[in-house]
Amino acid sequence: MADLVDGVVAGRRAAIARAITLVESSNPEHRVEARELLGALPSPEQPAVRVGVSGVPGVGKSTFIEVLGGRLTASGHRVGVLAVDPSSRRTGGSVLGDKTRMPDLAADDRAFIRASPSAGTLGGVARATSQAMLVLEAASYDVVLVETVGVGQSETTVAEMVDTFLFLTLARTGDQLQGIKRGILELADVIAVNKADGDREAEARSAARELAGALRMVHGRDRAPAVVTCSALTGAGVDDVWQRVLDHRARLGQDGLAQKRAHQQLDFAWDLVRDELEQRLTRSGAVSQVREEVRELVLRGELSAVAAADRILAAYDEGHRGAAE
Ligand code: GDP
Repeated sequence: MADLVDGVVAGRRAAIARAITLVESSNPEHRVEARELLGALPSPEQPAVRVGVSGVPGVGKSTFIEVLGGRLTASGHRVGVLAVDPSSRRTGGSVLGDKTRMPDLAADDRAFIRASPSAGTLGGVARATSQAMLVLEAASYDVVLVETVGVGQSETTVAEMVDTFLFLTLARTGDQLQGIKRGILELADVIAVNKADGDREAEARSAARELAGALRMVHGRDRAPAVVTCSALTGAGVDDVWQRVLDHRARLGQDGLAQKRAHQQLDFAWDLVRDELEQRLTRSGAVSQVREEVRELVLRGELSAVAAADRILAAYDEGHRGAAE
């Protein structure tokens, strides 16, 4: 354990990889070791810049992270890239955070890319990612980018673990704006209309103006997220996007940032509890004993949902009474 801690702090890649594998593990013994590891790792002197990067598949997330990451490492930063992709279990392989999608950054000494853990609930993936972030920060990565894809709850989950949430989108105007999930616009701190190049540059600019106007109406001028355009392909505007991210973080201020992170910790603690309870429910022998019977009765219309829930909970409580006392 002491070797592992030293290796991480010294920034040795093999040690970092091993530490992340440990915090990703759902094996109970590993989880105890992971807690020990995290307890022993030092916090960075300056809080790292934690940024979520989200957008639908194909919007240009990996192209963007490749360009941005390269510029950041060239200017002296150390950049970690993590992915939250609960769907990777179903597709059997991770798309996000895949090194082949960011070949230059993957070969960059000052960058560390880690694909999404390939199994687990969203809660489990979030736990793994948050802890991997702490490992990277202890290894002096001062910028951590958390990539996620626009499915279900994963954006909310990522927004809850970063300082600034960047949403990449494509030029959409008028009715198409409705197609952007409302929730996303509420989470976003910075919005970048990507692929603003070639024939599409003008379209992207007017889409950004329209979106900015709509957001000012919803949030008010002071609280509306910045909307800018960029091209991950040519690199145009990428620095500006990053500046907007830093501006957002600066607006939070030191106290605001500390407060935001403290609240995130509290929310995260409850997420972990909920996740663990769900796991226990799934594993519970007492619950599996009544599962079939309850299923039959409900499907035949002989047991209401409320009564069924009571029966399942009663079985769970009965089965775990000894453990709880
Ligand atoms: P992701 O699925 O969000 O990670 O998207 P990718 O980064 O893999 O990009 C999807 C496709 O869009 C690739 O073919 C990229 O080359 C292309 N692409 C990404 N960014 C831009 C851009 O700014 N302009 C143009 N024209 N194409 C882009």
